[in-house]
Amino acid sequence: MRLKDKVVVITGGSRGIGKAAVEKFCSEGARVIIWDVLDKEGESFANQLNSKGFICRFFHVDVTNFVEVENSAKKIIEEFGQIDVLINNAGITRDATLLKMTDEQWQSVLNVNLTGVFNCTKAVAPYMIEKGKGKIINTSSVVALYGNFGQSNYVATKSGIIGLTKVWARELGRKGINVNAVAPGFIETEMVQSVPEKVLQMMRERTPLGRLGNPMDIANAYLFLASNEADFINGAVISVDGGITI
Ligand code: NDP
Repeated sequence: MRLKDKVVVITGGSRGIGKAAVEKFCSEGARVIIWDVLDKEGESFANQLNSKGFICRFFHVDVTNFVEVENSAKKIIEEFGQIDVLINNAGITRDATLLKMTDEQWQSVLNVNLTGVFNCTKAVAPYMIEKGKGKIINTSSVVALYGNFGQSNYVATKSGIIGLTKVWARELGRKGINVNAVAPGFIETEMVQSVPEKVLQMMRERTPLGRLGNPMDIANAYLFLASNEADFINGAVISVDGGITI
C-alpha cells in the first residue's frame, strides 16, 4: 500500500497506459480520479473498480480546456481535500510527414500533448503548493530522444515535455513538489494500432529485451515516481523502453 489514501489524478485514464495506471494506483491504496474524454469506457471502468471496494471517480475533462480542468480540480478538492499526485498521461498522435502535415494535425497534437499538460499542471500545482508537497509525472516518449519519421507534431510535444519537466522541477521543487517524466518505448496500446506490423517487428528486433512494452511496464514507473521512494528524484526523465535507446 505505497499510496494509501493519496489522491491521484490520471489524465487519459480510460484506456491504454493510463488505465493500467488507474488500476495499479487503486491497488496501492490511492483514491484515483480519471480525467478523460472517453466517457463510456472511463465511467464503466471506474464503476468496476468501485464495485471491488476501490475509490475511483471518472470526470469528463478535456485537458485542452483550462476552465474544465480548473473546475474539476476544484471539485476534487471539495470532495477529497487534496491532490497529491498528477499524472499527465493523456496524449494523441496525428502522423504525417512534414510536407503532408496539415495545420489541423499540427495544432491538435500540440493542444492535447503540450497545452493539455500545461493546463493540468497549472490548475493542480496551487493545491500542492498549499500543502508543500506533491508529485507531478509527465509522459514523454522514446521518440523525443531520437526523433521519428512522420511525427513532427508528436516529437515536438514529447521533446517539449522534457523541457517543461525541467523548468517545473526548478520552479516547483523549492515548494516541495517533485516533477519528473517517463519516456516510454513502444507500448502495446490502441495508440500503436496504427503502426504497421512490419515497423513493430523492427522495433522488437531493435529492442535488447526483444519485445514491445505493456501498459503495466509504464504504470510501474509512474508508481515508483509517485511513491515516497522517489522523494529525492526531481527533473529526471526515466526511459522505460527495453533499452531501445542505448
Ligand atoms: P491511448 O490512446 O491508448 O490513450 C490515451 C487516452 O487519452 C485516451 O483515452 C484518449 O481518449 C485520451 N485523451 C485524448 N485526448 C484527450 C483530451 N483532450 N483530454 C483528455 N483525455 C484525452 O494512449 P496510450 O495509453 O498509448 O498513451 C498514453 C501516453 O503515453 C500518451 O501521452 C502517449 O503519447 C504516451 N506514449 C505512448 C506510447 C505507446 O507506444 N503507446 C509510446 C510513448 C509514449 P480518445 O481515445 O478519445 O482520444
